[in-house]
Amino acid sequence: MTRDTCIICGKTPVIELQQGHLCRDCFIRYLQRKVYKTIRKHRLFSRDDVLCVACSGGKDSLTVLHLVDKLAKKRKQKLFALGVDEGVKGYREKQLEHMRYFCEKHGIDCVIVSFKHEFGHTIEELMKIVRKKRVGISQCALCGILRRRLLNKYAKKLGATRIVVGHNLDDEAQTGLMNMFKGGIELAARMGPTTGAVKHPGFVPRVKPLYFCTEKETTLYTKLLKFRVLYQRCPYRKYSYRAYIARHLDEIDRDYKGTKTSIIQNLLSILPLLKKQYSGGKIPECRHCGEPSKHGVCVVCDTLSKVGINYV
Ligand code: SF4
Ligand code: ZN
Repeated sequence: MTRDTCIICGKTPVIELQQGHLCRDCFIRYLQRKVYKTIRKHRLFSRDDVLCVACSGGKDSLTVLHLVDKLAKKRKQKLFALGVDEGVKGYREKQLEHMRYFCEKHGIDCVIVSFKHEFGHTIEELMKIVRKKRVGISQCALCGILRRRLLNKYAKKLGATRIVVGHNLDDEAQTGLMNMFKGGIELAARMGPTTGAVKHPGFVPRVKPLYFCTEKETTLYTKLLKFRVLYQRCPYRKYSYRAYIARHLDEIDRDYKGTKTSIIQNLLSILPLLKKQYSGGKIPECRHCGEPSKHGVCVVCDTLSKVGINYV
């Protein structure tokens, strides 16, 4: 019986990839090279960009923070980490503690903003009002639009020219299906390693260096490098549409290996056409908060006004 060995150096493997087995050191090098190649090939940022790494304190955001910070330090490039505290009790504070610890250890500037400070309520408090007033929005949908708003607002305020996010291949494949099933093809035009179909000075472009890394790979990376990470998910995730799609997609990918990768490859092949189709026109500003919005009032101001919060 032959024992599996690392395809590069012959040592004991820690992971089996499509191309074969890899040992600890070869896997770490493989992942780092893949991320840096994505940054280069897709021109995610240049040496002059000020980088804001959106950090939740979870495995993906710590992986991307670790790798992008290494590169930024080598290039003497400005970088800071930005965390958003939505106020999920018993969960987010532990993750943000890991983020603070990581930033302190690696000498990274760390900024944390919160829903409570910004909107006067945590996500859990907001949802109580949403249910009482029968505003038709799910917790994860509300949490997502408010978090994206704070990331964009503070990245801009702190002078960032790129927001670096930890979205991985699994996330992107799920988003692709969610847009096909529910969100609409126009939303798919915003996908890809650099988000956004339209350019606007009010939007800080969001880039995804982990675009071609699977969740299995980022999990292993953080374990091998012994990062302090909470591997459990937000307790509300299980109720979301994303979690439903993720469960089914995992099952399909288990039975038909490579499904997630082929969703990404197909998406990338039609993305130039989608971006061309949906990139026209000037985006006006929201008449309440001044953020870019296709409609007279942006989705944040519109939703918060239904909840009874006057946010400017
Ligand atoms: Fe917010 Fe939902 Fe994510 Fe929890 S799972 S942090 S509620 S978006
Ligand atoms: Zn607005």
